[in-house]
Amino acid sequence: MTRLVAGVSSSVGLVRSANEDSFLVREGLYVVCDGMGGARAGEVASEMACRGLMQVDPATDSAGDLLKAVQDANRSIAVRSHEHEGLLGMGTTLTGGLVKGSKLSLVHVGDSRAYLLHAGELTQLTEDHSWVGEMVRRGELTPQEAAVHPHRSVITRALGTDPDVDPDVFDVEVADGDRLLLCSDGLSGMVSDSEIERILAIDEPPQQVAAALVDAALAAGGEDNVTVVVVDFRPQEPDDAKSETKAAEGPEVNFGPSDRGAPSGVATQARRRLARRQLPFLRAGDQAPAPAPAADNLAAVAAVASAEGAGGEAPAQPVARSKWGRKRWVFVIVAAIIVIVAMIGVFAVVNSTMYYVGASGNVVALYQGLPGSILGIDLSQRIEQSAVSYSSLAQSVKSQIDAHKLVTKEEGQRFIRTLVAAP
Ligand code: MN
Repeated sequence: MTRLVAGVSSSVGLVRSANEDSFLVREGLYVVCDGMGGARAGEVASEMACRGLMQVDPATDSAGDLLKAVQDANRSIAVRSHEHEGLLGMGTTLTGGLVKGSKLSLVHVGDSRAYLLHAGELTQLTEDHSWVGEMVRRGELTPQEAAVHPHRSVITRALGTDPDVDPDVFDVEVADGDRLLLCSDGLSGMVSDSEIERILAIDEPPQQVAAALVDAALAAGGEDNVTVVVVDFRPQEPDDAKSETKAAEGPEVNFGPSDRGAPSGVATQARRRLARRQLPFLRAGDQAPAPAPAADNLAAVAAVASAEGAGGEAPAQPVARSKWGRKRWVFVIVAAIIVIVAMIGVFAVVNSTMYYVGASGNVVALYQGLPGSILGIDLSQRIEQSAVSYSSLAQSVKSQIDAHKLVTKEEGQRFIRTLVAAP
């Protein structure tokens, strides 16, 4: 029987204005997320991911439930990113561990890391999903070259940037006396593995060790947000009263960081534009051009919207799409009005070129427009009337007039001016 004791520490660092890392610490479930995206969208993504994993109950849920929660969080982030212009392209790393007895199930996306200290020796459990990490695995870069590479922050897999995420999922056997470390690249990018190993081996409670690791990252320059979770696997002591250990370990669910730094209003339009162009593979402040997959991700995020339409439990219609639906209706109605007005205009012009001779009561007149009316509106107006009354005309002439034959203006004028009373 193993007792779990955890500590967590997170810092904005010495260079960044905001902390976009998030963490979740709960007995048996430990998560570190490192968000990316301009205008502090990264903190939205990392927080959404950690919040999403709160649905996992480490006491009863399996590694499969953890994976499902990660996939749900991925979809939620992708949809939200698509809905809000300021959040487009946001994403996050996620490195999480679920402990069941001596089995540690890890789920991992991005370049945050999990390490295990066993018998004083540090092992990196996760592979970085980063551009330089892949080059190291292909033998194209040494780990030393990767550590200082200008594009070392470019990651190749993230949560929230694709409709489907492909996390690494694997189990590790742990033993009493082992110590687990989860960290964002603000630690591993600033502090060497040998220094991490040295500090992690210090015989202090996990909370102090976590704080010491963050201090080491700050001492090395603190160029990035740094978040550290340390978990001890301790043998269960016979007199361990569960209620006492709980009280000593702080809140049951520790979600943070509670302080993210300066208010988000400091973000400029320029940063926002930059973030949109750089998209998911760069964190705010990085200079490197994203590799080709960036374009795929735009399409992928867009694809989320259509995939959701057919999807089961996800919201049936993303908001962005229904907004377009409303816009489309407005467009259709305005277009219809324009067409109708144009048709009336054309009709009025054509109508005004028509003439006929007709009789109203006893008056014979030349009318401009068509005989008849639409919705009570006469289509024609009288422009000239005959000096001769209708009743005085010969029957054959009356019949001609009643036929309402269309004529030119001149023909009509000539006709009514030459009318004479029947003998
Ligand atoms: Mn980072």
